[in-house]
Amino acid sequence: MLRLGNRAAAVAFRSENKTLGNIDLQSIPSRFNFALLLAQNETERLIAEQCNRQGVSIERSTELIAFSQPEAASHIEAEKYVKAVLRRPDGRMEELEAAYLISAEGSHSLVRNTLNLEFKGKALEQAYALADLHIDGEIPEDALSIFATEQGFLGLFPMGKRRFRIIADRSRAPRSRRWRSRFSRNAKAL
Ligand SMILES: Cc1cc2nc3c(=O)[nH]c(=O)nc-3n(C[C@H](O)[C@H](O)[C@H](O)COP(=O)(O)OP(=O)(O)OC[C@H]3O[C@@H](n4cnc5c(N)ncnc54)[C@H](O)[C@@H]3O)c2cc1C
Repeated sequence: MLRLGNRAAAVAFRSENKTLGNIDLQSIPSRFNFALLLAQNETERLIAEQCNRQGVSIERSTELIAFSQPEAASHIEAEKYVKAVLRRPDGRMEELEAAYLISAEGSHSLVRNTLNLEFKGKALEQAYALADLHIDGEIPEDALSIFATEQGFLGLFPMGKRRFRIIADRSRAPRSRRWRSRFSRNAKAL
C-alpha cells in the first residue's frame, strides 16, 4: 500500500480563492506522517492477494442467509459450533458447519440482527456526492484540499497521476453566514 499509494503531507482549507488554514501532517511524530491515498480497487486487490497467500480464497456473490448456534455441549465438535446457510451465486443453498463465524457484513449485519445486538452508531443524515476523476489545473497532488462554499464543502483527495476523489456536500439550502464564519474560524485556528 505504501509503495502504491499517493502521499499527502498537508490538509489545506480554502474559501473564495483564499487559504484559510493548513494542517502540516509532517509535524506528526511518526514515520507515517502523511495521509495515504489509494484507490479502492487497488486496496481490494491487495487484500485479496494477501488472503490467497494465507490460503483463504474469497467466494464472491455468496450470501449468508441464516445461522444458528447449537447449544454448547461437550459432545459437539469444536468445528461445528456454528451452522450457517449460504446462497451460492447460482441460487443453490449450502449448509456448512464451522468453529467460528466472523461478522464483517457492514451496518445492516444479519449476524448482529440475529443476535439482537445493538448497533452503537448513528446514521449521518448528510448526503454526499462522490466521484473519482482526472482533473487538470493547479490543485496540488501532495495535499488534501477542502473548499468551503455557500453550498457546503468540497473535498479533493489526490490519488496520483492527476486522479482525485471528490466528495461534495449535497445540501440543497445555501449554508448560513454563521456556518461559513465558523468554518473559517476553525480552519484559521488550525
Ligand atoms: C461513499 C463512501 C465513501 C467512503 N470513503 C472512505 C474512504 O475514502 N476511506 C475510508 O477509510 N472509509 C471510507 N468510507 C467508509 C468505509 O466505506 C466504511 O467505513 C467501511 O466500508 C466499513 O467496512 P465494513 O467491512 O465494516 O463494511 P462494508 O464495507 O459495508 O462491507 C460489508 C460487506 O459485507 C457484504 N454483506 C452484507 N451482508 C452480507 C451477507 N448476509 N452475506 C454475505 N455478505 C454480506 C456486503 O455486500 C459488503 O461487501 C466511505 C463510505 C462511503 C459510503
